Amino acid sequence: MPLSAVPAVASDRLTSEALPQPEGQAPFESWGRFPRYPGRIVPMHWQQDFPANIAGLHNGALPVGMGRSYGDSCLLKDGNLVLTTGMNRLLHFDPETGILTAEAGLTLAQILDFAVPRGFFLPVTPGTKYVTLGGAIANDIHGKNHHVAGTFGNHVTRFELVRSDGSRRICSPTQDPDWFSATIGGLGLTGMITWAEIRLKPIVSRMIDYEGIQFHGIDEFLALTEQYRNVEYTVSWIDCASTGRNFARGIFMLGDHSRVPGELKPSPQPRLVFPFEAPGFALNHTTVSLFNTAFFHKQMKPRVQALQDYEPFFYPLDKVLHWNRMYGKSGLLQFQYAIPWESAREATITILGEIAKSGLASFLAVLKAFGDVPSPGLLSFPQPGITLALDFPIKADLTFPLVERLADMTLYFGGRLYPAKDAAMTAAQFQSFYPQWEQLARFRDPVITSSFWERVTGDRPAL
Ligand SMILES: Cc1cc2nc3c(=O)[nH]c(=O)nc-3n(C[C@H](O)[C@H](O)[C@H](O)COP(=O)(O)OP(=O)(O)OC[C@H]3O[C@@H](n4cnc5c(N)ncnc54)[C@H](O)[C@@H]3O)c2cc1C
Repeated sequence: MPLSAVPAVASDRLTSEALPQPEGQAPFESWGRFPRYPGRIVPMHWQQDFPANIAGLHNGALPVGMGRSYGDSCLLKDGNLVLTTGMNRLLHFDPETGILTAEAGLTLAQILDFAVPRGFFLPVTPGTKYVTLGGAIANDIHGKNHHVAGTFGNHVTRFELVRSDGSRRICSPTQDPDWFSATIGGLGLTGMITWAEIRLKPIVSRMIDYEGIQFHGIDEFLALTEQYRNVEYTVSWIDCASTGRNFARGIFMLGDHSRVPGELKPSPQPRLVFPFEAPGFALNHTTVSLFNTAFFHKQMKPRVQALQDYEPFFYPLDKVLHWNRMYGKSGLLQFQYAIPWESAREATITILGEIAKSGLASFLAVLKAFGDVPSPGLLSFPQPGITLALDFPIKADLTFPLVERLADMTLYFGGRLYPAKDAAMTAAQFQSFYPQWEQLARFRDPVITSSFWERVTGDRPAL
């Protein structure tokens, strides 16, 4: 399809509630709202704006998207955040191959608005659609189909990388493959991705054939994982608060795009906004336990089947904008590990036991098996085994020591933590999780850095 024939995606379809503040000195927060740093926002609207718009600025720069990373990988204390969400044009689409080319600030929500009515879907999607193409590449994100499709980077065919010295290179698995690999999962450090090309997949309906199965304990979870290893999407919600008989109970959720032709209209816009910051006591062990019990029993039968729209299947949390305010002013820490199969069972039981004992778990806990499709990124997070992701409300004196213990346990069991979800791992932990970090450091743009990178490498470049 020629460029002129591709209808522009209206960026105002994302309400200002869903977007970070675009201009000036307004705070740019990550999703966990911890840490919070002052920084200058440098809006970017045109591909050629970079590097011109950071010329003469001090304290370094970092390209950022929607700020849906939880910790400080999308923050730069006292530095310049180059906000890419204004650079959000669709550039080309080929309905024969499903190859879509778009500027890096386009969000996955905007891609879906364009693609679904044309019978296409994202090859890999995270648990929120409010992330940019650039952010999806820089964290080499994964979704419910990791076990069959690998990471987002596995479906990126090319992108352009612009450095602060103005040099530009097209990167693909065959063209400048080392830059391709360093930039996928490269935490935004190798330069600005201006546009990218991805391969979408065909669908015939918005609907998902869904099945939810209750399980009791990790062994049942593992048996279901094995039984359904060829199903496209699998993920489990797990109750991290219960002990005893209910320890590690959960719901194994599986689904695939319906093969019965159906509606392909775009999604309605979310209307609900979490209106205020909840008081700190709103999330406590009692409320979380009550929620977990209710959620488990919401599925009354051990097994349910349904035809479900893709929105609640992939993005149940996107229904309420700013749901992170539920954690109050202090914010939340997200914790996500990937532990290899050799120790995954024992590690998961041990770590879940530690979390349940702490009484700090939240209700948003997700367990999933990663597959063995190799990730294309040098620093990609997924590896074959089990991944567990959950939120902890930040409670002074309790949350940080717990998360540090869990990180040590992850290390002991040979796993690693996800930088996109982290605000707490130590430099020693990071460098053990990712011994290849020094290779990435060689590709870092000299003007680009992040608070995460400085924290975990101790490298504060003179800028
Ligand atoms: C509710 C929720 C659910 C989530 N579920 C998942 C999940 O299932 N799987 C998963 O993997 N992740 C998940 N995430 C994390 C999220 O997908 C990633 O953090 C994603 O990278 C955020 O994209 P963003 O546009 O908000 O980028 P930001 O958070 O703003 O930035 C992320 C990184 O991308 C870099 N970057 C952004 N744009 C560019 C660019 N143009 N050029 C170079 N670098 C750039 C930044 O420097 C930064 O390092 C979830 C997050 C939330 C809030």
